[in-house]
Amino acid sequence: MRSVHVGIAGAGLVGRTLAWRLLRAGCRVTLFDKDPADSTASASMVAAAMLSPMAELAVADAVVFDLGQRSMALWPAWIEELQGADPIANAQPVYFRQNGTLVLAHGQDLSSLTHFTRILEHKLPMASRPQLVQVDGAGVAALEPALAGRFQQGLHLLGEGQVCNAQWMAALKRVLRNQGVQWHAGFDVDALRPNTISAGAQQYAFDAVVDARGVGSKADLPGLRGVRGEVLRVQCGGVRLNRPVRLMHPRYQLYVAPRPDDTFVVGATQLESEDSGPVTLRSMLELGSALYSLHPAFGEARVQQMSAALRPALDNDQPFCALRDGVWHINGLYRHGYLCAPALVDSLARQLLESMQ
Ligand SMILES: Cc1cc2nc3c(=O)[nH]c(=O)nc-3n(C[C@H](O)[C@H](O)[C@H](O)COP(=O)(O)OP(=O)(O)OC[C@H]3O[C@@H](n4cnc5c(N)ncnc54)[C@H](O)[C@@H]3O)c2cc1C
Repeated sequence: MRSVHVGIAGAGLVGRTLAWRLLRAGCRVTLFDKDPADSTASASMVAAAMLSPMAELAVADAVVFDLGQRSMALWPAWIEELQGADPIANAQPVYFRQNGTLVLAHGQDLSSLTHFTRILEHKLPMASRPQLVQVDGAGVAALEPALAGRFQQGLHLLGEGQVCNAQWMAALKRVLRNQGVQWHAGFDVDALRPNTISAGAQQYAFDAVVDARGVGSKADLPGLRGVRGEVLRVQCGGVRLNRPVRLMHPRYQLYVAPRPDDTFVVGATQLESEDSGPVTLRSMLELGSALYSLHPAFGEARVQQMSAALRPALDNDQPFCALRDGVWHINGLYRHGYLCAPALVDSLARQLLESMQ
């Protein structure tokens, strides 16, 4: 039987992951992206890629929590599967940890931690409540010896995780290319119609087309907006963390997500702005000083990178994944792209394949 040929516009987290799942299901896939394949500009490349269904529930709906829970079950299996197909997986494995998240606050900000805990107690389904564990100073020290004596209270969110986005995206790129996906880099897709993708004067025909252009789909998806986010990437040999730490603060919240080689992702600002320009001095100071307040050894951290990108978000801040006027859309993953992508991609791949039967 002739295999289904799918055209996907956008090679961010969503486009690449979907391309791989469709390939696994026997489809032919062609990817288009306006940027070079090694670009680091997309939200997917800038993200901290924490997998925090519970911590995010404080600002998200049950829909996101459920997608997150389903994705948490898929992540380890998908990473193993992708690495099995990646010829250099041994040299460049995808970093993935599931040691939970530790939420902390300095003494003067303890009311923010109490409020956060109450929101989660209120919103979490009963079955997940045992995953919310309050710890005292000794508990903080046991989980994170580097922070011993610095915090008297904390909240441990069991089972939450993190993935290294750069490694996941790079492994997908290698596997897709090795397995024959046509990757049109530097192709600015200006229109998607049923069965056709247009880039400049060229038109490409497919059995099905998917729009995964993130904020780039604005003209075609009513209500889509970009939400600016900024992160710092630092290297610091003086502090060792076993899991992402979130620091509550009345004005801005900070997270520090450890990565291999003594590096940390520190984020993130959230600004209702579609300015994707470089990180501002104010954001750099806020993120940097909050990091320094977590542990003074971070004062010697080397700043490796400061990046900004736009999170694609819809009015209800929930993902959108559906067939609309003959074009499949998967978008609006907002601040939960890594958290929700496996469940959403899995669902879209199934629906698309069923529609082809
Ligand atoms: C600072 C920051 C921190 C984050 N932290 C987390 C986190 O900890 N956990 C989490 O789960 N999520 C996090 N996110 C959110 C997550 O990064 C996004 O939800 C996710 O990356 C969205 O993926 P996407 O593929 O839909 O969009 P994008 O990553 O924006 O990818 C869209 C792709 O489409 C391409 N494109 C756009 N227009 C066109 C066009 N006209 N033609 C062709 N190609 C086009 C772009 O070049 C890009 O490659 C964070 C985001 C930011 C910015």
